Amino acid sequence: MQVFEAKKIGKIVVLGTGGTIAGTAASASDHTGYTAGQLGVQHLLDAVPGLNDTLQGATLVGEQVAQLDSKDMDHATWQTLAQRCIHWLAQPDVGGLVITHGTDTLEETAWFLQQVLHSTKPVVLTCAMRPATALAPDGPQNLLDAMAVVLDPMARDVLVVCAGRIHSARDVEKIHPYRLDAFNSGEAGPRGWIEQGRVRWADPGSWPVVHVHARQALALPPADWPWVAVLHSHAGADARQVHALVAAGVKGLVVAGTGNGTVHQDLLNALAQAQAQGVALRLTTRCEEGQIVGQAAALQTAPLGLNVYKARISLMLDLMK
Ligand code: ASP
Repeated sequence: MQVFEAKKIGKIVVLGTGGTIAGTAASASDHTGYTAGQLGVQHLLDAVPGLNDTLQGATLVGEQVAQLDSKDMDHATWQTLAQRCIHWLAQPDVGGLVITHGTDTLEETAWFLQQVLHSTKPVVLTCAMRPATALAPDGPQNLLDAMAVVLDPMARDVLVVCAGRIHSARDVEKIHPYRLDAFNSGEAGPRGWIEQGRVRWADPGSWPVVHVHARQALALPPADWPWVAVLHSHAGADARQVHALVAAGVKGLVVAGTGNGTVHQDLLNALAQAQAQGVALRLTTRCEEGQIVGQAAALQTAPLGLNVYKARISLMLDLMK
């Protein structure tokens, strides 16, 4: 899973079509009794804090193509929307498009556009499950994430962004009537994720060789391979585990931390001592899905979001040089 730097593009065009993302309710706690398609696209953009930082110099152009509840989507609107997409995509300084859309028929619009646009530039549909007037609306974050995807060098085609996940037009489906993460891509899974404004693609094409000295393993007798052990952080984690391993001659320790790579303080203190004694350390997470985002702890994070068992192999190969 690879993360790429944002590309430099001149302009991103945001086409508004309505939906809950542009919806308003009488009360901030009302997530269902609202009217979709009330606020204009410029209003939605103005409500996104930190938008300029994400854009990295690209300018935004907003255009209202429609203003409807997407349950009422019609073929005439599709035709107009596709024509506006073609118009903007033909401009050399436009790096990609974001389309704000209701969730109800978003998957249908995405597939229609995928078939008629044949775009190499990214066209990213995004949405919200809560109206813009909600206490904690999801629309601004989805909009920000959609911009990050447009800016990513690997983004192309028609994509859908919702709740931190990127879906293809082919596979995306609305699978839940209420929760924020209402979309799924079935067996195919999401195309990627947006984490802290950065895109992580599920399939980067091929996996890089991280350990340049890995072939040493073919010549070195297995009995001489460096001893690397696995530890887990948990309630009541005991420093004596680390001390015992160090005393027995361990060369490396890979720790499966809790959550985003947090480690019990008792274990962390013992690990710091071990490191001072020359033991190599790597950090992973106990969580089965996702990977550590950002620099979570004092320990070096294992490469490529590997799980603790594969990270153990990686550290062992690292220590062979
Ligand atoms: N009915 C709304 C729409 O599709 C639902 C939503 O956007 O979440 O426009």
